[in-house]
Amino acid sequence: MINSPTRLSSEELLDILSLSENATAIYTSEDIIIQSANDAMLRFWGKDKSVIGLPLLKAVPVLEGQQFIDMLKRVWLTGSTIEGVDAPAELDIDGEVRTSYYDFAYRAILNPDGSTRCILHTATDVTDRFLSQQRVAEMNEEVAAVNQALSDTNQQLVETNHELAESQETLILLNNNLTESETQLQFAIDAASLGTWDLDPRTNKFSGNDRLKLWFGLKPEDQIPLTKATDVIASNDRLRVIAAIQQAMQYSSGGGYDIEYTIINPITQIPRVVKAKGKALFNIDSEVIRFSGTLQDITDERHAREQLIDTNQRLELALDAGKFGSYDLELETGIMFCTAQCKQNFGWPLDKPFNFPDLMTVILPECRKYVEQQVGNAITHNSVYNAEYQIALPDGTRRWIAAAGKPRYNEQGKPVRMVGVTYDITENKTNEQRKDDFISIASHELKTPITSLKAALQLLDKMKENPSPKMLPKLIEQSNRSMDKISSLIEDLLNVSRMNEGQLHLNKSIFNLADMLNHCCNDVRATGKYDLIFEGNTDLEVFADEHRIDQVVINLVNNAVKYAPNSREIYLIVSKEGAMAKISVKDKGPGIAPEKLPHLFDRYYRADYSGIQYSGLGLGLYICSEIVRKHKGQIGAESELGKGSTFWFTLPL
Ligand code: ADP
Repeated sequence: MINSPTRLSSEELLDILSLSENATAIYTSEDIIIQSANDAMLRFWGKDKSVIGLPLLKAVPVLEGQQFIDMLKRVWLTGSTIEGVDAPAELDIDGEVRTSYYDFAYRAILNPDGSTRCILHTATDVTDRFLSQQRVAEMNEEVAAVNQALSDTNQQLVETNHELAESQETLILLNNNLTESETQLQFAIDAASLGTWDLDPRTNKFSGNDRLKLWFGLKPEDQIPLTKATDVIASNDRLRVIAAIQQAMQYSSGGGYDIEYTIINPITQIPRVVKAKGKALFNIDSEVIRFSGTLQDITDERHAREQLIDTNQRLELALDAGKFGSYDLELETGIMFCTAQCKQNFGWPLDKPFNFPDLMTVILPECRKYVEQQVGNAITHNSVYNAEYQIALPDGTRRWIAAAGKPRYNEQGKPVRMVGVTYDITENKTNEQRKDDFISIASHELKTPITSLKAALQLLDKMKENPSPKMLPKLIEQSNRSMDKISSLIEDLLNVSRMNEGQLHLNKSIFNLADMLNHCCNDVRATGKYDLIFEGNTDLEVFADEHRIDQVVINLVNNAVKYAPNSREIYLIVSKEGAMAKISVKDKGPGIAPEKLPHLFDRYYRADYSGIQYSGLGLGLYICSEIVRKHKGQIGAESELGKGSTFWFTLPL
């Protein structure tokens, strides 16, 4: 028998629904009045049954501002259904507003006419599910980041791998190059005639190439005993070399080794100057593990260098002795390297640099262009530069300089330097000038008596048919005087040239000086214009060429007559000074300026007397000094302006 089912009343149904774990509520009217809410829904809201019959917003004020009330109103008005998943809702539970997540549905229950009868609200709290899903998502993100990092690392690894492969290739290449370099090094060592050596300090094994063995007096197949390496060193170099080796093998020294010394082949005894270069290698404990290097034969080089130094020294000596200055001019900068003598020649301070622009300031302005032209010509034609020019010293004195030089070019043919010498030629120039003057003076001096002789001869020629007894002796006397003058001038000239050729021969005898002086210069005495007064020792005798000494005295007396014409007294004084006899000729004439005194005995020297013209060749005192010098005596002059002059000379007794 089948019982017909009992229909449950609405209240019964609601009561049953209220037991459901799913939260459920029913709302009516647009104001969303709570008609029913089960316990689960009331728990969500944090309310009790007293809220039933109240509008939802009033019952659960915390919903104000949240989306739910609007949704419910829309469902009411449209009769639609709104469903939400993981929807956040803020609810006041036990006095604390918390966000929870819900899956929910607002479903409109419709009347037969389609209007909304009520809204069924079902909701499930999915907060735990949502949070764990969120956590999973976060973890996923983390995993993704880790994955990315891993992938990056992987990429780097791939790149590193790539680089490693490349490095490997480079290494292979380098290795090949190294082998090649080693071969080339070997060639170079052979070409440079180098000996090579290698010491392993831990085993004391010393080795070297065939050339080194040859120098050590060994055969190629021989081993080199360590003692050999030091035995071959010349004994006076040995200690120095050993000290250098010990030094190089100290870690603190850096291991460098560079020294020159002599080795002696024990078989042939041939010495060889060598340059040793090497390097010690150290391990991380600073212990020397290898010491190796090369030995270069620099014997020829050393000899060449020594010869060069020697030549240079000789050149320097020659330059110094000849007072030659030397310079080295850098053309681009004008910087000059000058020796001290070079600076001295230009009157330049030794402690100051003397460069081309300085040189130009010293050279007289009118000579500068000429010097520049000469330098320029030499550079253009690669020829020797030669110039003679005048300079002005800081005190205003003028000097003559002769300069010579040779341009130097670089590999590109560009002129880079000018090297050469300078020489002070003031004295030569002065002598040249004097010689020129002398020639014109000599011609002039000879012309006067020759003209007078010529005139006398012409007159004699005219009167040869009918000679005038009055004129004849006068003309003959004039001719004789002129001839004497010419003879004496020629005699002076001959004397000088004889002296120049070193052909002044002395005809010595013993004679009394007082006797000689009392008989000399009779022509001067005969004029009656001068008193020749003898003073001093009458007994002194000398061993000398009387005729030449007489010539000296005549010269001095004639000078007194010529240059001190108003001094009536001329004193001839004889005295004894040690082992010498001193003869002085003293006048009371105008005297001689002190700056002229040192030059009086120079050849062709004639002191200048402004305004007064004296005839003379400037040879007399020079001839006197040569005669006295030949007798091993001395000659000199003392004078004071306005007080007269004393010319003296000495002769050995
Ligand atoms: P010179 O042929 O010109 O006389 P010297 O050699 O004999 O040549 O003399 C050189 C110069 O010395 C002369 O030019 C003159 O100026 C000077 N001199 C020589 N003797 C005297 C003197 N007694 N008093 C002054 N000056 C003199």
